[in-house]
Amino acid sequence: MTAKTSKSSILHPGDKAEGKAAPDESLVAGGDTSSRLLHFITDDVPKSGSVEEIADGVFWLRFALPMKGLNHINLWALKDGDGWVVVDTGIANRESKEIWTKHFETLLEGRPINRVICTHLHPDHTGLAGWMCRKFGAPLLMTRGEYFLCRLMAADTGRVAPREGINFYKKAGFTPDQIELYKLRFGGFGKAISELPHSYDRLVDGELGMIGGREWRVVIGSGHSPEHACLWCPELNLCLTGDQLLPNISSNVSVWPTEPESNPLEDWISSCHKLKSVLPEDTLIAPAHGIPFRGAHSRLDKLIEHHEKALDRLYEFCHTPRLATEVYSVLFRRPITDGNRIMAVGESVAHLNCLKARGLVSRRLNDAGQFTYKSRPLGTE
Ligand SMILES: [Zn+2]
Repeated sequence: MTAKTSKSSILHPGDKAEGKAAPDESLVAGGDTSSRLLHFITDDVPKSGSVEEIADGVFWLRFALPMKGLNHINLWALKDGDGWVVVDTGIANRESKEIWTKHFETLLEGRPINRVICTHLHPDHTGLAGWMCRKFGAPLLMTRGEYFLCRLMAADTGRVAPREGINFYKKAGFTPDQIELYKLRFGGFGKAISELPHSYDRLVDGELGMIGGREWRVVIGSGHSPEHACLWCPELNLCLTGDQLLPNISSNVSVWPTEPESNPLEDWISSCHKLKSVLPEDTLIAPAHGIPFRGAHSRLDKLIEHHEKALDRLYEFCHTPRLATEVYSVLFRRPITDGNRIMAVGESVAHLNCLKARGLVSRRLNDAGQFTYKSRPLGTE
């Protein structure tokens, strides 16, 4: 852990290598609704545009999202002296801007936003960061992996799908029609965000910064995105967890064409263990989706178990060689459609890459140029 930083920042330049690729918003596959052991702060589902103070100076803002499954996001406004710190910003559309514009006058009482923090790169978190930073002359704070990947993905907007992407999905087992759909939809990321500022302040794991006179610590996880920042305030016993820890859904953990041999699922499982070692069980978890809750350890245990059981089922299923596109039924409860296939196949490859890294499956290229995965007998190299 580094020493406490100056009052105005929660960041430090550093030299950690940037993380792996991870594109658009996810959270579709492998939903896990088991939350009986969690203690939610309310039974009511707030309306879009609502505000609630969940701890001293920490305000919970609810915004609608224009997606069918994931229809809302929680954003956070933190009192900071004469100004405010905003954590995550919402997707870049007219409705979100209208809600923010109202909050600027009412909740924020016309006071400035002095820092904009984004937990990770996905558009529902970064969408209005550029707009807000420019409006208030505020710095953007992100981890290096998230900032640069966000810039990179926005730069793909309007470009044609790359050969590497087409090959990745062909090897996974996509049909020609599914490849065409991938090509058609490629490069849409930048349409959901306002342009990010061309410089940022880097968040580093373990770093302490001051917000509203209290110390907040950066806790970084990986798997859903390369270098996701959670913000933990021990004094308030509160952690803003973004998509790294959610109460009702299992965050999407995918392999993407930019880094086809990556193993984000092992990163994700390791991050769950890390969060469990850092956060007390009774910490108030303020997630990006769902209702704030207590019961961090129960939830993290459940998430680990959820993926380990999926790996076990997948291992059994691959005694007969399988393509990545043939394992959906083992991993997901909901049907796979044109709307969620990219995330489903990404999550399938993530589980297969994890089994492969653990030495439990072998992978071969078949005569059609597709990868098949076959379970290895236990105890072999
Ligand atoms: Zn996300």
